[in-house]
Amino acid sequence: MSQSAEPSAVPSRNEVPEALTWDLNPLYAVPEAWEADFARLDEVAAPVLAMQGRLDSAAAVARLLDAETALDRLLERLHTYAHLRHDEDTADDANQSREARIRARYAEIAAQCAWITPELLSHPEAELRAWIEASELAACRRTMLKVLRNKPHVLSAAEETLLARAGEVLSASEQTYSLLTNADMAFPDIPGADGKPLPLTEGTYRTHLENPDRGVRKAAFETLLGTYGKLQNTLASTLSATVKEHVFMAQARHFPSALEAALFDDQVPVAVYEGLIGATHDALPLFHRYLDLRKRALGLPDLDMYDLYAPLVPSCAESVPMEQAREWVQEACRPLGAEYGAALRTAFSSRWIDWPENKGKHSGAYSSGCYDSPPYLLLNHHDRLDDAFTLAHELGHSLHTWLANRAQPHRTAHYPIFLAEIASTVNELLLTHHLLGRPGQAPAVRAHLLNHLCDSFKGTVFRQTMFAEFERDLHRWEEEGTPLTAEFLRERYCELNRTYYGSGVAANPAIALEWCRIPHFYYDFYVYKYATSFCAALVFARRLRAGEGVDAYLGMLRAGGSQDPLAAVAAAGVDLRDAGVLREAFADFDLVLADLEGALGPAVP
Ligand SMILES: [Zn+2]
Repeated sequence: MSQSAEPSAVPSRNEVPEALTWDLNPLYAVPEAWEADFARLDEVAAPVLAMQGRLDSAAAVARLLDAETALDRLLERLHTYAHLRHDEDTADDANQSREARIRARYAEIAAQCAWITPELLSHPEAELRAWIEASELAACRRTMLKVLRNKPHVLSAAEETLLARAGEVLSASEQTYSLLTNADMAFPDIPGADGKPLPLTEGTYRTHLENPDRGVRKAAFETLLGTYGKLQNTLASTLSATVKEHVFMAQARHFPSALEAALFDDQVPVAVYEGLIGATHDALPLFHRYLDLRKRALGLPDLDMYDLYAPLVPSCAESVPMEQAREWVQEACRPLGAEYGAALRTAFSSRWIDWPENKGKHSGAYSSGCYDSPPYLLLNHHDRLDDAFTLAHELGHSLHTWLANRAQPHRTAHYPIFLAEIASTVNELLLTHHLLGRPGQAPAVRAHLLNHLCDSFKGTVFRQTMFAEFERDLHRWEEEGTPLTAEFLRERYCELNRTYYGSGVAANPAIALEWCRIPHFYYDFYVYKYATSFCAALVFARRLRAGEGVDAYLGMLRAGGSQDPLAAVAAAGVDLRDAGVLREAFADFDLVLADLEGALGPAVP
């Protein structure tokens, strides 16, 4: 690495030591090899396209599905390389153009293959069932069963064409919301603790809410929500139109409700969704105890909505270099057994990980790969304690992918989102407990770790479930014919917020506008999965630390997408259809909270 005048300056991509970058050779050794494969796409797509109008037997369907798998694998491989190269240096022209080319080609091929599901479904159910039982299709049984499951909800070819064409118009309000809030909205500066103006954006908002100065937090909260408030009628209209779209689509496809339509793909019963809301309500006294601790630890006479992110303990100064993070994660994951440990060593020795920040690199962290590549990790490691948690989290995703890819054929390897955050959260929890259990752990670090866990629980379980409840109600009101006006939404949101946060938090009137800034309300029942995964992960992590159910847990990871997600989790011993599992998770939170109360004890009145 070149000696820079400023030691902390971010290096260019070519200054990063190779050992700290990911090795993309298993995908393509040189860009020319990618070009050669890209040039083969038409040839590999041809056998798929040739089957149009010819799906008249189990053998024909098997030929189609085999050809489709070959095409998918090639596309995924090309796309993975292009997007990883793009993200190592997003400013690089060759990287940009490669990524844009494969993205365009991907969309084009998807459109060329759009006939497949409708053509399969045009056959009578009895014929499809007979095909599914045929030996030629034994390897594709799950794919075919999923197609068949959709049959009652797929309309005639003419109606489908009409719906597809109307789709763009129907989703316009979501697009309007996104452009309005991401591109056109601007927030005024707020006064900093020293009186100097601080820029306020959605990006800096969270940092301001963590500011130790209460005046900064209050100004950020009230200014941000107040700015949204000036557009509240427009935002009520975009939200209302999106809810109408979900309800319309669900009715058009013969679902009893928008909620049932959204849960259909994962085969999650409405009772699981309702059960999450019910169990969270039952646990609200626990949440209020946490909020009370927060008030006392911050030394405030009353707690306001803008005090919920202020750090209870000073952030951890402990420096965690890559080497240390790597060692911790390996030690923490020891309960997962020898094979898991060996895979972790491979992740490090085979360079699955792109560690440091460099100029132009994609921000944040993720795990990404395809069936024919290692499950790579992009990081921006800065030697902070949080970065060790990010490593544990992303390795959780990568090892899940790795185990599923090795155990499953391509068709069933890909796991659903519903399962994804379990593996990553389990690893984070294992790391937390590993660090809490280190002999001689400094009390300040201990308090920091416990607080981090309580805050994650607050943000992932209580807050996301509150959103899930509001989302359920939004769709219910629309289905009952209640107009979703700004005034109505303000009142209902305020009420719900009061239920969740209780009388211990001041009823700041600005909170009534928070629904204006939550993009998830446009995502069609997505957020509940954050809460259910976190609860499942808590239960798994506790059992794994006790040496229980390791094989069953690894079996769930290996199952990939070969089962419906609830069945896969239940097979590993955590049945989310049983309210007892959620109670177990809340009991865990109770223990952690008690630990935090103990750790903060001397400092808190
Ligand atoms: Zn994740």
